[in-house]
Amino acid sequence: MTNKNHKFETRIVHAGRNPDEYFGVVNTPIARTSTILYDNLDAYFAPDTKYRYGRVNNPVAQHFEEAVSTLEGGYHAISTGSGFSAVTTSILSFVQSGDHILIVDSAYAPTRIFAQQELIKLGIEVEFYEPTLDAGIEELIRENTSVIYMESPGSYSFTTQDVAAITKIAKSHGITTILDNTYSAGLLFNPIKHGVNIAVQSAAKYISGHSDLNLGFAVADTEENYKRLKTTAVNLGVCAGPEDMFLAMRGLRTLQMRMEQANENVKPIIEWFQGQTFVQKIYNPALPDNPGHENWKKYFGGKTNGLFSVLFDPKYSWKDIARFTDALTLFPVGSSWGGYESLIQPSEMKKCREFWPHKGALLRFQVGNEHPDDLIRDLGNSVNHL
Ligand SMILES: *Cc1c(COP(=O)(O)O)cnc(C)c1O
Repeated sequence: MTNKNHKFETRIVHAGRNPDEYFGVVNTPIARTSTILYDNLDAYFAPDTKYRYGRVNNPVAQHFEEAVSTLEGGYHAISTGSGFSAVTTSILSFVQSGDHILIVDSAYAPTRIFAQQELIKLGIEVEFYEPTLDAGIEELIRENTSVIYMESPGSYSFTTQDVAAITKIAKSHGITTILDNTYSAGLLFNPIKHGVNIAVQSAAKYISGHSDLNLGFAVADTEENYKRLKTTAVNLGVCAGPEDMFLAMRGLRTLQMRMEQANENVKPIIEWFQGQTFVQKIYNPALPDNPGHENWKKYFGGKTNGLFSVLFDPKYSWKDIARFTDALTLFPVGSSWGGYESLIQPSEMKKCREFWPHKGALLRFQVGNEHPDDLIRDLGNSVNHL
């Protein structure tokens, strides 16, 4: 239906579906599987039989994996029950006992905890690196470094890394690179084009876009790396539910419009915060003083998603801030982001960073599809309670 000459938007509309397979039905139907019957005993033993057992492969997973591989511009993908299991499965695919792994300090907090609690148990040396290091990472590379793990922009502070500089160095040392690309949803940035081996995402964020599923994936750049991912995924029993994959593929078709809207809606809200005296610093990759802003300009085509963080003046305690957040009516407190509604999430940065010199509480805001005028009025009313 589509070919490589088509533009990205066109390919994403058609990726991972084939109406001819299903009586002309537009979207790949939800096929619920565990057992998949073989034609006969020969098919059971034939190495090229496509679907054998639902957990290992099935028609919905196949289409979802094709779609996200097109999105990321990679060879093929594994689908996983959550974004986080895509992170852990990807790391476990490329490390073994005795290895050293470099993980960006601004990684999603559970990724850090996984490294500190699980990778260490396996005898892997874990080192967190400063997110603005870029090409300076070369000095941290050891004989036994097997993986450099990036997230760009990183969680909460949205530091954007010089991905091409890092992958160039990694390749020269035979190191595998993994990048958590959830921020961009694969739309604003394609890490594989810049030399990353594995692009990981939580599909619970912008791809699904409606805060109603847990799903993830990892796309490999080559057949060889895909096979390593798939082997580890099968050995760990990792798989994803067909209804979640169906919904994520449906979300994919409107991803571009929703991301465009997020990029627009977030701007007036950030502007409002820029005029407030309680603000110590605002974090968003498009702000010129944000760490890694030059990298964001280089890699992100001038677009952001709907996230930003506010670091409060240290004179405000969480108790003070709670008076502000409790008064908000359009910004409930909730984990995750990328849905249609606005949210806030607090973070205790000192607990999830090695390199975080700042004092003061931090709130991350996700701006949804509400009208910005209403959001600003809500913020304006609530700030009187601070
Ligand atoms: C949410 C998130 C994840 C984990 O995804 P889940 O689907 O919640 O398991 C991983 N990385 C980043 C950057 C995230 O924001």
